Amino acid sequence: MALSLDRRRFLKYAIVAAVGSVLVAIPGYELYRRWQITAQTVTIEGRYVDLIGPPPYANMELVGKLDTAYELLLDLTGVRPYDGAKIGVLLDSVDSSEYQALAGNPITVVRHCWQELHQQGNCCSELYHTGYHELSHDFMGIPEFDRIIFVTDEFVEGFRALGQQYVYYHVDRPTYEEWRSAYRWPLEEYSKNQFLFEYRFDRDVCASMLMDLVDRYGFDMWKRFFRNIYKLDIGPKEDRTMEERCSLFVRCVSEAAGEDLTDYFKNLRFPIGPTG
Ligand SMILES: [Zn+2]
Repeated sequence: MALSLDRRRFLKYAIVAAVGSVLVAIPGYELYRRWQITAQTVTIEGRYVDLIGPPPYANMELVGKLDTAYELLLDLTGVRPYDGAKIGVLLDSVDSSEYQALAGNPITVVRHCWQELHQQGNCCSELYHTGYHELSHDFMGIPEFDRIIFVTDEFVEGFRALGQQYVYYHVDRPTYEEWRSAYRWPLEEYSKNQFLFEYRFDRDVCASMLMDLVDRYGFDMWKRFFRNIYKLDIGPKEDRTMEERCSLFVRCVSEAAGEDLTDYFKNLRFPIGPTG
């Protein structure tokens, strides 16, 4: 069975295609991704997220956690991705190690990821982690968002980490602390190194930087940041030089923090332009 789907109709057709080959077009994101669905699928309907995949991985506990994550990410960003359409999460039975998971609507998580968990008897905790990760990308990595605020592509992962940490902060404090401590060292290492921060922005450092600012100003500053940045009518980031992007970013972060953070970013060798 071959079906062409768009993201708005995905759920309807995914239920039909219990077994077979599915061709998926996600406008503006990635065209013609192909999935082989070889296991019987079940669909579980949540408030914000519908889950499609074989039991026991597709269960109400998982969809409940993803729904909670959705609400928290909405709270953090003030954004409803995909014009508020419900997001599908496909536990895809394709046995591929190429991509473990992909953001978009639907989010897809290949078998390589969820089958390992079963062997570990780990009650899918890694699957929750993957779900939070990709869902965070849908709030903070979707193209229209990326074009406005991200200084470099590595910031897509940095902001994703911020969203995921916000979820953990509210639902799983030990995991939050564990990841938080892992984010600390890249920034410290990086700030010691004079060579690395010219035009290269490592993703771990981006995440560390955003989390470091959480330590200083709390998540509320990022809430202000997201709400302000969406009001800007400034066109795509490609229209701006790297210096202009960095200057704009620093200006918006400073506004959200209520403090001029130019020196903070200069110390990290952010290439802030003269128009900043
Ligand atoms: Zn990612």
